[in-house]
Amino acid sequence: SVDKERANNVAKIKVVVRKRPLNKKEVAKKEEDIITIQSNSNALTVHEKKLKVDLTEYVEKHEFLFDAVLNEDIGNEEVYSETVEPIVPLIFNRTKATCFAYGQTGSGKTYTMQPLPLKASQDILSLMHHSYRNQGFQLFVSYFEIYGGKVFDLLNDRKKLFMREDGKQQVCIVGLQEYKVLDVETIKELIERGNATRSTGTTGANEESSRSHAILQLVIKRSADGSEKKPARLVGKLSFIDLAGSERGADTTDNDKQTRMEGAEINKSLLALKECIRALDNDQGHIPFRGSKLTEVLRDSFVGDSRTVMISCISPSSGSCEHTLNTLRYADRVK
Ligand code: ADP
Ligand code: MG
Repeated sequence: SVDKERANNVAKIKVVVRKRPLNKKEVAKKEEDIITIQSNSNALTVHEKKLKVDLTEYVEKHEFLFDAVLNEDIGNEEVYSETVEPIVPLIFNRTKATCFAYGQTGSGKTYTMQPLPLKASQDILSLMHHSYRNQGFQLFVSYFEIYGGKVFDLLNDRKKLFMREDGKQQVCIVGLQEYKVLDVETIKELIERGNATRSTGTTGANEESSRSHAILQLVIKRSADGSEKKPARLVGKLSFIDLAGSERGADTTDNDKQTRMEGAEINKSLLALKECIRALDNDQGHIPFRGSKLTEVLRDSFVGDSRTVMISCISPSSGSCEHTLNTLRYADRVK
């Protein structure tokens, strides 16, 4: 069928890199842009400055290839069409798709991620009102975060939630709030509410958001008889994940015990995520979900007809060179 053909044309795993522009602070500190992207190519070069033993400077070049490389002049619209847009129609046909933003704090993860669910729900609602008119499809949204290996509902006052596994190896988050979405305004309000809950957190510290994974899920359901009267069943899912700052995974030697623990948890979850995506790519039967809370939560999105988009965000500045190389190596390993 047309639907099947379309699904086959969308890669199972897509890895995209997005470079942000130098910011004012970096310019003021006279930091240089060390990332070059050849136009109309999917290649990227990092120019790493190094010192010889006699302290003279030299540049080591690192070349990377990805499915797509988005230069600093690429806007959010184009990021959407390059990543999520092709996947949206598939979720009406039982696909579960996940879009990740990976990178160090300040690299542009949230900037990249925030507009995507809005645009996606716009397209989903439009499909529901046109191509799939009167077929009983319904759209729901939930928004939660994983912080220190625990799940908190961002649409319900950051209530702590627990996971349960049923006999069919399906996991669910018990009591997670799901809101029905009829228009884009509603989803906009819910996302804003969730964001406010997220950044305030328990201590009110803003930087806490870099230590948690924020997960926004758009869920398509349909009632058995196509009407809206019978209880609706899950059809497809689209998850947007603003990952914890990748550099936080290295906080394992910090003096503060809490910070160390959180760092270890973040490190564990990012490693587990990489292993799961690699297993998906190799079509291995066994996917190591149990490695972390993050991957356990995403378990049902990795089985069956799944799609994964990884957007790796990088800063262009010389001061971030080491983190940038780490991010690019991670993205490289996912492929
Ligand atoms: P992260 O979520 O990875 O910590 P942010 O998304 O908060 O990073 O981005 C850090 C800062 O850089 C923000 O002020 C954001 O507005 C800005 N920024 C990030 N990406 C871009 C971009 N592509 N174009 C312009 N500004 C950007
Ligand atoms: Mg952020």
